[in-house]
Order: sequence, then structure tokens, then C-alpha cells
Amino acid sequence: MAAPSLHVSGAKMSKSDRRLLRKHNKFKINFARRKDVHISDIPTQHLLVNNGGLGNNVQREQLLSVFEPFGRVTSLVMEQDQPYAFVSYSSIPEALAACTAIHGCLVKALQTVPSAQDVQLFLTYVDRVPDVAMPSSGLPEGLVMIRDFVSEDEEQVFLQCVDWDSSDSQLSEGAHLTLKHRRVKHYGYEFMYGINNVDPDRPLEQGIPHECDQFLDRLMALGCLNQRPDQLTVNQYKPGQGIPVHVDTHSAFEDGIVVLSLGSQAIMDFKGPKGEHFPVMLPRRSLAVMLGPSRYQFTHGIMPRKSDVMPVQSASGDSLTLSRRDTRTSFTFRILRRGPCHCCYREQCDSQTPHGSQVCTRRLQGHFSDTRHSPWPRVVEFLKQLPLGALVADVGCGNGKYLSINPGIHMVRVLELSWLKS
Ligand SMILES: [Zn+2]
Repeated sequence: MAAPSLHVSGAKMSKSDRRLLRKHNKFKINFARRKDVHISDIPTQHLLVNNGGLGNNVQREQLLSVFEPFGRVTSLVMEQDQPYAFVSYSSIPEALAACTAIHGCLVKALQTVPSAQDVQLFLTYVDRVPDVAMPSSGLPEGLVMIRDFVSEDEEQVFLQCVDWDSSDSQLSEGAHLTLKHRRVKHYGYEFMYGINNVDPDRPLEQGIPHECDQFLDRLMALGCLNQRPDQLTVNQYKPGQGIPVHVDTHSAFEDGIVVLSLGSQAIMDFKGPKGEHFPVMLPRRSLAVMLGPSRYQFTHGIMPRKSDVMPVQSASGDSLTLSRRDTRTSFTFRILRRGPCHCCYREQCDSQTPHGSQVCTRRLQGHFSDTRHSPWPRVVEFLKQLPLGALVADVGCGNGKYLSINPGIHMVRVLELSWLKS
């Protein structure tokens, strides 16, 4: 017996019904290119659910609530980014009953899934369900993950100790562009997004809050850090916000970057130099310590998404589902480096390779290298286009790196702004 048709027998098909049926037939033709699963002309216990996949925001729970009333679901396979899923029953009659009842039916969107819409499901029998392609498990080399490192009470203390009101004024305009409205606050030292570095000679008034003391004691007791962190960056991500892929500047921080995730989970993508990809789940209240290759060599970032695809284990087997993100606040503790980096990852190292920090921050900034010592390209460009004899005051000139850019202009070095006022 073939799958029941979309329209009610005897009734005339409406225009939109015909359009949907055409769409479904087209989907079946495309699906036939798949080598591992084949469409079956006779009923089987396996169903292909068109329009009911992670790729169109349908959740596992939603499908189960639709299919479980018709029998024992032995498998529900959802694949990343695909707008379809596979459902297996323990017997053919169960699958037949489900197919008859559900094919062409509208399934209401879950209110908890942002941007989800009502979907019309189309069912087809298939000869088998595919093996589940789970996101690569395992961690990049050097990454230490500890679940439930802080209690829910501690989580609240951490979240409440951040005084967001005094944060925005610290950030330069460039920082806002980079951050895309994600809220950031620095303690101990400011991380300057324009140059992707810190100035070890300019500590901030506010050190790491004392609320973090006990946490830091426990962190040090783990024995994976040589020094106690002296810099803290707090990031607040609303659902849909992320952080571009980057390697933390080698010359700015020592080995051991500590990330405490609070409020919500997120998936952090680690990518290695040979294209290795580790999507790492950072559960709420978990600790991640990036050491060695995971700190120096792998890039890491968070995709700006409202939900993450996650593996689930259940009676009906391993599968994937969508997990909605809530507001996630991360506490990133780092140890300031005083002096050049001597790591063995030269290619990513701004201390050892002239453009090392470009490798690190290419996706963040595009062109900056060690800007504390070398000229900024935009400033060079500006100076070069000035007419012969122009007078330029280089206020806060530092080491005078712009003095010799354009020999046709007069440069006045001004060490401090107060000199101009007097
Ligand atoms: Zn290095």
C-alpha cells in the first residue's frame, strides 16, 4: 500500500494542496540521490518525515509528541541542518497507522523555539533509518572540561557581582563594532579590542571582584595553572549573539585561559590548523581551561545562533536535537604575560612571527599586528596623503613611530595633552 495521498478522497484538491504535493514529490526525487536510505513503495516500519527536521526548526520533543500515540517509537533520527527526520516503529502496522493519520497534517510550532513556525508533515516509507552522524565527540588537545564546577548559589553570586552600569564607558568605539552589542566588562586590566592586547603598565582601578576568591582558590588547587589569574573579562551573550573565531593573543596572556559559563549553555567551536573541528558543549556552571594546543594553536568562537544542535540519548537511541540558548554570561580569567611568548606554535605566535597576531586575530580585526610598537595602517595612509609642508601634532606619540612616514610634512611630537593646554 502506498502512502495515503494528501487530499481527502472525493474532495477537490485546492491550489495550495497541489503546490505542497508538488513540493513533496520534488523532495522525494531529490532524496532518491541518497545512497544509504531508499524510499520504499510498500509500507515498512520506517518513516521519512519531510518538513520535520532540525533544518526547519522542528524539535525532537515535538516529533515524539506527534508519533508516540501511534505505537512504540524505536528510533528518531534527526540530522544537522536537514529539514527532515526518520522515525522507526517496532512494527509495520504502527507505522501504517501513523502514516495514515499524520501525512499532510499541520503540526503546531513549539512556543519555546524562537523563529519556529507551524509545519505540515509529509511521510514516506523508507527501507531503513540511517546511522546517526553525531557531532565529533572529544575535546581539542589541552582542553580541560569540568561540569558543575560552581553551584547554583555560587552562580547567582557571580552574576550579581557584575556592575554593568559602569562598563560601557570603558569601551572605545572600535570595541563596540567588534562586539556587536554583546556586553563586556573588564577587571584587573582592560583588554583593548582595537589592538587585541593589554597594557601591563595600566591596571584598572577595579581588580578581580573578591566574590571570585574562593573560586580562584579551587581553580589553583586543580594544579593546571602556574599563576593565579590577574585579569577577568565578563561577557554577556543574549540568544543570537556570539564571538568571532580567534586565538587569544599570545603576547598578551600566559598559558591557561579559564572560561566559566553561567546562565546558559553554548557550543564553542574549536578549529585546529589541519581543519580539525571540535564543537564543544559548554554547559551552564561548567569550567573550561584552555591549555597547550587548545590555547595557543586552535581558534575558538561561538556561532551567533539562538539554539544549538546537541546530541541526546534516549530510549529511542542517540540522536540530535535543538537546544535553545538563554542569556549566557561567561567569566574568562587570564594571566597577563610580561615579556614575549616562547611557545612552540610559531605560526600562531605574534611574538615569534611578524604576522603571528594577524593569524590570531585575522577574523576579528583584519590587519593589526603588534600595534604598541608598529604604525597603524590607517594613520600611515592619512599621513602619506597630506600636502607638502603640512604641520602635524602627534599627541601621545609614544615611541614616535609615525615621525618618518612622510618626509614632506612637519611632525611635532607631543608626549602629553597637558602640554597643549599650557
Ligand atoms: Zn606564542
